[in-house]
Amino acid sequence: MEENDWRLWDDSDCFRNEKFYFRKYKKSSERWDHEHCNFCWARISEYDDELNEGYCTVKDELWVCPQCFNDFKEKFNWEVVDDINLDKKIVMIHLKGVSKKY
Ligand SMILES: [Zn+2]
Repeated sequence: MEENDWRLWDDSDCFRNEKFYFRKYKKSSERWDHEHCNFCWARISEYDDELNEGYCTVKDELWVCPQCFNDFKEKFNWEVVDDINLDKKIVMIHLKGVSKKY
C-alpha cells in the first residue's frame, strides 16, 4: 500500500480508528439494491457477479470491501468486532437482573 494510493481522498482520515463488523449485503428496499465500497467504489450487492459481503462501520454503516479493508486496516487502525449487539445484550441482561441460560 502506498501513501498516494488512488483510493484515498482528502478526508479519508475520518475513517481512522473505526470499528467494523463483517456482514453479508442484504438490500434494504426495492429501490436501493446495492452499496459502494467507500474507498474503491466497488459495488456490494446481492448479485452474483458483484461483491456480496464486506465490512461495515458500526457507527454509520459505511461499507468497505474486503480488499480495501485488508489494504488499509493498519493505516487507519481499524478493528473488527464480531457481534455489534453483544454489548447491548450484556447491558440488558444486567439491567434486568436476569441470568439467562442459552
Ligand atoms: Zn474497496
